Amino acid sequence: MDESDLAAGYELPGVDLSGEELLVLVVPPQADEFTCSSCFLVRHRSQIAREKDGHFYCKECEG
Ligand SMILES: [Zn+2]
Repeated sequence: MDESDLAAGYELPGVDLSGEELLVLVVPPQADEFTCSSCFLVRHRSQIAREKDGHFYCKECEG
């Protein structure tokens, strides 16, 4: 009974809301998309111009 009381005490109001805001800001790219390491925009994989050390760069940034 003591454990359940402790768990309930850790559920602070507002924690869930801040978590949702983070999810909105950090949107993982889809399987056919990538995040450009120069302009940080999510683009289609067909726009990959260069890959270096696991970082992708779009055609616009690479000219
Ligand atoms: Zn770019």
